[in-house]
Amino acid sequence: MRHNFGAGPCILPQEVFKQASQAVLDFKDGLSILEISHRTPEFEAVVDETVRLIKELMNVPSGYSVVLLQGGASLQFSMVPMNLLPEGGTAAYLETGIWANKAIKEVKTFGTANIVASSKESNYTYVPKDYVIPEDSAYFHCTSNNTIYGTELYNFPTTSVPVVCDMSSDIMSRVIDVAQFDLIYAGAQKNIGPAGLTIAIVKDEILGKSGRKLPSMLDYQVHIEGGSMYNTPPVFSIYVAMLNLRWLKSKGGVAEIEKENKAKAEALYKEIDRNPLFKGTCAVEDRSRMNVCFVMENPELEKPFLKLAEENGIEGIKGHRSVGGFRASMYNALPITSVHALIELMQIFAEKHQ
Ligand code: PLP
Repeated sequence: MRHNFGAGPCILPQEVFKQASQAVLDFKDGLSILEISHRTPEFEAVVDETVRLIKELMNVPSGYSVVLLQGGASLQFSMVPMNLLPEGGTAAYLETGIWANKAIKEVKTFGTANIVASSKESNYTYVPKDYVIPEDSAYFHCTSNNTIYGTELYNFPTTSVPVVCDMSSDIMSRVIDVAQFDLIYAGAQKNIGPAGLTIAIVKDEILGKSGRKLPSMLDYQVHIEGGSMYNTPPVFSIYVAMLNLRWLKSKGGVAEIEKENKAKAEALYKEIDRNPLFKGTCAVEDRSRMNVCFVMENPELEKPFLKLAEENGIEGIKGHRSVGGFRASMYNALPITSVHALIELMQIFAEKHQ
């Protein structure tokens, strides 16, 4: 039995992978999902269902459009200022990790990023909470889950300024109120589907105000009007995302998976705090449920523990190079039994090494 704690891309349930592989061989009348025209009614139905499921599972209110894009979350770092920032304007950014930092870098070409708060000086081990968003900011940008450092935002600011959020690594892992945001974007490849698909949920009224002429492919409005089919969409990624969203719906939706995600995170953090060999790396109140980062009190034991983990089917727990130690990513598809397997191993290891 393998337990995949990897940070991605694309950790999905086995049953979704099976259905997806079947569609590669025969989606309709012996034709592969990869070869049928994306303009057929059958594929248009796939796009429609994917968008419908995103709206349903996230309870997207009216006045918002859901668009399926490409280019990853990284392209959104540029598309956001291109579409929302007037020439020479200023946008407020909360710097909580490398992804936020990369988003900030992209603003320069279009205007100014005002970093309202940053936890960079502590290697992003906490989420700053004391900051002011100037009212003349074109928008405020934050990252809801910091994949590399293992922190998550549990509160979002109330402000008159449009709120933009990169939800790449915790979208659909917990219930959020979409109405609190004006633009949500996410690379699909954690909880939604394979890499190659990016989703954006845009409040229609914020568009068309930057005064900037945009290349068609980088204009949200063009993709909205094109029904996410302005050009050839990433057909396979969308199809697999649809299958995975069906799976999520069959599990009871986001509220149900949130309960499981909470239980998984509570169990693992409890062991990290209890076991004298291990310690968490982040502020307790900001600990992420998706990416659990921890190290060993004695760094010399990290290699042997990693070896033991790999021998026992625990995959992908090596920490990101900028944090070290371990990172157990626990996306929606990871069952709680895998978390129990990791905890058991931590206990066995501690018995041997105390
Ligand atoms: N934002 C966050 C929070 C991420 O975790 C990642 C990738 O892991 C990115 C952005 C970059 O996404 P992409 O590789 O789709 O450009």
